[in-house]
Amino acid sequence: MDFGYSEKVLALQAKLRSFMENLVLTNNERWHREAEAGSYPLELIDELKAQAKASGLWNLFLPGLRDDEPGTRLTNLEYAPLAEIMGRVPWSAEVFNCSAPDTGNMEILHMFATPRQRKQWLKPLLEGDIRSVISITEPDVASSDPTNLRTSIRRDGDHYVINGRKWFNTGAMHPRARMLIVLGVTDARESTPSHKRQSFVIVPMDTPGFEIVRNTPIMNHHALEGHCEVVFRNVCVPVSNLLGEEGEGFAIAQARLGPGRIHHCMRTIGQCELALELMRERVLERSAFGKKLAEYANVQDEIARSRIEIDQARLLCLQAAWLMDTQGNKAARVDVSAIKIVAAQLQVRVVDRAMQVFGAMGLSDHTPLAYLWTWGRALRFIDGPDEVHLRVVARNELKKAKEELGQNSAFFRHPTRPADAPISFDATRK
Ligand SMILES: Cc1cc2nc3c(=O)[nH]c(=O)nc-3n(C[C@H](O)[C@H](O)[C@H](O)COP(=O)(O)OP(=O)(O)OC[C@H]3O[C@@H](n4cnc5c(N)ncnc54)[C@H](O)[C@@H]3O)c2cc1C
Repeated sequence: MDFGYSEKVLALQAKLRSFMENLVLTNNERWHREAEAGSYPLELIDELKAQAKASGLWNLFLPGLRDDEPGTRLTNLEYAPLAEIMGRVPWSAEVFNCSAPDTGNMEILHMFATPRQRKQWLKPLLEGDIRSVISITEPDVASSDPTNLRTSIRRDGDHYVINGRKWFNTGAMHPRARMLIVLGVTDARESTPSHKRQSFVIVPMDTPGFEIVRNTPIMNHHALEGHCEVVFRNVCVPVSNLLGEEGEGFAIAQARLGPGRIHHCMRTIGQCELALELMRERVLERSAFGKKLAEYANVQDEIARSRIEIDQARLLCLQAAWLMDTQGNKAARVDVSAIKIVAAQLQVRVVDRAMQVFGAMGLSDHTPLAYLWTWGRALRFIDGPDEVHLRVVARNELKKAKEELGQNSAFFRHPTRPADAPISFDATRK
């Protein structure tokens, strides 16, 4: 793995930074003012989207982008440092058509959509004309285990009939949201393996029987685009809205969550970097008990720890991106889980340190820190809780141990053990 950014990436970074400085940050105040007044700043977003598209800063997240599709094709490794820059202003990802959950949705449509689905849904998503929702999590079951899901997708002639309740559906309130990609049970038979019972179907948001019940606040904050509770009551869609094959839902969910997860991590690293920059400046300016905060050893330790931890996370993120590019999303699964845990926890830690040195101001709306902390906390659940990802990493380690059982015996010099015996604390083993 080469850790240096290529000429192409350096040029794109410079272009993106300049776009952020001249067009995004200059409009940051306007975006927040309009959002606080309760209206989605659609006009502003549309103006900026047109400029981003014209500048070649469009759909940067999709390595499989075809020549006839709009945007600049990059690898995951090339996209990572750019997503990091976008992460610094959370609303900006939409300007470049790189925001969640659309990026993950476009990835799976790219992989599994039929030609008709591509035309109807993928094309307008890639053009930035519509937004989309991923609808997996349910209130009634532990949804980090998708085999628990209960929403039913029943075949009835040429249609599927969907019944169920979902929640935390990000983006459902966006004024351009037009469709949901819904995971539910198409085959409830006991004899069917539990990971072959689910399928994804595409549900246009204006289908009768679909209802947004509530925009659930996240840590007391109502997101403008919504994290919504929704209901499907006898929602009827043609069978041609099935994504992939029946019973393939679990596998598609795995495919989706690879790229989607790592994009969040890339943006998070940018947010941690911003928090550290704010913290550094603040401690140089602020004095207490006769000296600058920067002169206190504990403050220096917090800054140093943050620097080291951000750099560690960035390297892990780049490693996962590189693995995705070189060996495929499946081979990178464990590394993506690893960075997902690290990035979300890092954000909570680094932003918390920054809030502490800012004093009360750090919790107010004078800085972006409170929002960033909240987002970091949410990220410990988004795309699966820490524990589920720890399980992926641990299982991989144990699988390796089983394959290599006995190979480390030589490191043990216990006289009663034969040199080639596997390491075991099982008393019955000779
Ligand atoms: C801001 C935000 C946006 C979201 N957006 C979306 C979205 O757009 N679409 C969508 O479908 N969902 C979305 N989610 C939901 C998110 O994906 C789920 O919250 C997550 O998958 C966990 O599911 P759950 O909430 O049902 O937790 P549960 O599955 O009930 O798990 C609860 C807790 O149980 C423990 N646990 C679970 N499994 C294990 C294990 N194997 N080992 C040890 N402990 C375990 C963990 O502590 C876990 O936090 C969003 C969530 C948030 C906060």
